[in-house]
Amino acid sequence: MGFPSCPLTFRMENERLTTRDVRMRGFAERVDVEVVTDFLAGCARDLPSESVGLLACVGRVLAEEVRAEVDVPGFARSAMDGYAVRGEDTFGASEYDPLRLTLVGESMPGHPFAGTVGAGQAVRIMTGAPVPEGADAVVMAEVCEEDGDTLRLADAVAPHKHVGVPGEDIRVGTTVLTAGRRLRPQDAGLLSSIGVAEIACVRQPRVQLVITGDELLPPGTRPEGPRIADSNSVVLGALAERDGGVLLPHVILPDRPEVIADLLGTAPADVLLVSGGSSVGIEDHAPRLVAELGRLDFHGVSMRPSSPAGIGRLPAVDGTAERFVFLLPGNPVSCLCAYEFFAGPTLRRLGGRSSAWPHRRIRLPLARKITSAIGRTDYVRVAIEEGRVVPIATSGASILSSTVRAAGAVIVPRELEGMPEGAQVDVVLYDDEVPG
Ligand code: AMP
Ligand code: MG
Repeated sequence: MGFPSCPLTFRMENERLTTRDVRMRGFAERVDVEVVTDFLAGCARDLPSESVGLLACVGRVLAEEVRAEVDVPGFARSAMDGYAVRGEDTFGASEYDPLRLTLVGESMPGHPFAGTVGAGQAVRIMTGAPVPEGADAVVMAEVCEEDGDTLRLADAVAPHKHVGVPGEDIRVGTTVLTAGRRLRPQDAGLLSSIGVAEIACVRQPRVQLVITGDELLPPGTRPEGPRIADSNSVVLGALAERDGGVLLPHVILPDRPEVIADLLGTAPADVLLVSGGSSVGIEDHAPRLVAELGRLDFHGVSMRPSSPAGIGRLPAVDGTAERFVFLLPGNPVSCLCAYEFFAGPTLRRLGGRSSAWPHRRIRLPLARKITSAIGRTDYVRVAIEEGRVVPIATSGASILSSTVRAAGAVIVPRELEGMPEGAQVDVVLYDDEVPG
């Protein structure tokens, strides 16, 4: 099996990192976060396009540019409720010297006036209705008075006034939206206005959650004795949907290699997110299985938390290209962190979006120093208190509540051994709103 899309240097790296069984021996070396993210950026491409109905296209990514095949509007239309006239007929009309025109009919939206407006004539017209042949301006209703067939006009109107010309909104032949655009509500409206009902969008990545662990109870189950409720699938599912993924039904698997191998081998997903069993314990089967079934590109990353994360690819199955597999440590904070660093950017990229983190960021001073280590990337949960960034004391990757208390995270890059009190730092915010 081949993976032609990936650079040779990475394949060599992979050979070196995966030929050993690391179980119960630990990682001899860990790879830098940037090496993994650069690798993923080099591998992940837009998925093929699919046709999406107009009413479902908002938020989707356009796969091809869209050109208008029609003018909008397709006819000269009135921008006012009033009367369609020949502008030159009205010159000289004023409040003191009103002009009289003959009312010859009306033009309503969808019901145009069939005749021609001649000299000295007017047609009652509503906003959006076609301006009839012969007329070149619309005079506002407010300055007119009807008296039977006669229209009294207390103001002049220049030719072209209050008339929208064909194509004033969209000209036939113009490119209205370019490939790669994430469609907004108004984009969908515009597509509708040019008569487009089906849109070629980048297919959304299909995501298979592979939740492993003998100790796990289904999400939301009250924990009992040594058994805990699976929380990772709940977090991962929401994150994957945030990033444009479509979830396949998920299952909780026991720590049995043949069961895990079966799902890894057959899941018709573009991305598999394996939770748990990614490390070096005797029950940690996933890295070896990925290496056997496909390719384990990386295992062990120089970061905290999430150092036992792994990244690989599995061969295509029906309807997929090569499948990305992310081995996410079971500890809930590690799981979330490894998702954000590696899986999230890949999912977004596959779906045609930017791989950049989608979070808002805010720059504020640190209330207390953060210690880290050179060569390691840290994901530090922080609170924001009185405009200052407070690192949350616990560093335990098993403490999910730390991410609930946190407003966001500060990422300490590998070239720093920490950040001093008072330093201005970027906080990656969990919420869209900046905390008050
Ligand atoms: P593992 O990565 O399988 O060694 O698991 C590390 C820790 O995370 C253990 O304490 C597991 O019980 C816990 N854990 C594993 N999977 C989950 C999950 N789906 N939800 C919550 N905790 C988990
Ligand atoms: Mg486990």
